[in-house]
Amino acid sequence: MKPATHVVHQGIEPDRQTGAVILPINLSTTFERDPDGEYSRGYYYSRPDNPTRGVLERCLAELEGGQVGACFSSGSAASMAVFQSLDPGDHVIAPLEAYHGTIKMLRTIGARWGLTHTQVNTTDTSAVERAMTEKTKLIWLETPSNPRLQISDIAAIAEIAWANGAKHAGRIGSHGVLLVCDNTLATPLLQSPLSLGAGAVMHSTTKYLSGHGDVLGGALVFADEKSELAQRVRDVQVQVGAVPSPFDCWLALRGIKTLALRVRAHCDNAARVAAFFDKHPRVEAVHYPGLPGHPGHELATRQMRGFGGLLSFEVPGGQAGAMAMIARLGLIRRATSLGGVESLIEHRASMEAQPSMTPDNLIRLSVGIEDPDDLIADLDQALR
Ligand SMILES: *Cc1c(COP(=O)(O)O)cnc(C)c1O
Repeated sequence: MKPATHVVHQGIEPDRQTGAVILPINLSTTFERDPDGEYSRGYYYSRPDNPTRGVLERCLAELEGGQVGACFSSGSAASMAVFQSLDPGDHVIAPLEAYHGTIKMLRTIGARWGLTHTQVNTTDTSAVERAMTEKTKLIWLETPSNPRLQISDIAAIAEIAWANGAKHAGRIGSHGVLLVCDNTLATPLLQSPLSLGAGAVMHSTTKYLSGHGDVLGGALVFADEKSELAQRVRDVQVQVGAVPSPFDCWLALRGIKTLALRVRAHCDNAARVAAFFDKHPRVEAVHYPGLPGHPGHELATRQMRGFGGLLSFEVPGGQAGAMAMIARLGLIRRATSLGGVESLIEHRASMEAQPSMTPDNLIRLSVGIEDPDDLIADLDQALR
């Protein structure tokens, strides 16, 4: 099945008992044993496994081309499950620019856990290679990155991970040093890291997958169900229990049904807005991989099937100039987060954990699915 079909049907058959076409929400926390004590129907308690969550996990695994998925109560919980699957003393290579919460997690909780990490400019593949140590177990990638949409070469970095795995056999994950890609900004429809050699993909399903700003959730999808990482993450998920509720899973599945339509609209609108910024005299810089002038444009064209709905831009006057521009907007909401149907805008540096690399005149815009003429009119009057 093509992805646009799979997002609608999600591998679901009508309910056997009632014929209901729409997936029921299964709220039961506990499931009956057979008379012989077995659980032949596969479920026994909702923390390890729940039927509604299972549909979402299989749907995401299918969309990412992986063998198995694991859902969490937030994207951050999914990331932490990966870090918790490492051993104290292990080394992580992380991007200089990424979702600030991921980096903060490595700096604070990861450090207390005994992990060390090096942040490198992952758009420079050789910098990743230089950062490899004997103790490196994980390369964390985020491409496009938050908030400047930097593009890193997944296939080239996967090769580094594989090459080092071959040299140091027996490391976590059946593929040696692991490459995990945060695919939140691209969505499974625009980029397939597993097909490029990554061992796992992470999502904040809070964003495009759910798509309506009403669910917090996260997910991991693994290329190899039997890999040590997949097994350890599953242990963390089941034992620690940072799992999403059945209702949140159902909302995510409902959001995913329109993913193909929404992503197309986000991409089209973002391209329009980026082109508008590119020509605007009151905009000093635009960061959008769909623009030919973006340093990652050529790589994004090869690696992605579209450029996504997030962009950022820089205005004159530093933080004060950025805040004043945002304050003049009428339609576009001043709020953090991204990937919902309504456009959201924020001054990014003041939202990020410090120290932040984000320029203080940078504004991040999650372009929604409104009519682009209305968005551009609002942005234009605020810039002027
Ligand atoms: C939002 C986000 C996260 C964190 O996800 P939560 O669901 O907020 O915990 C991680 N990575 C990226 C790229 C994000 O946008």
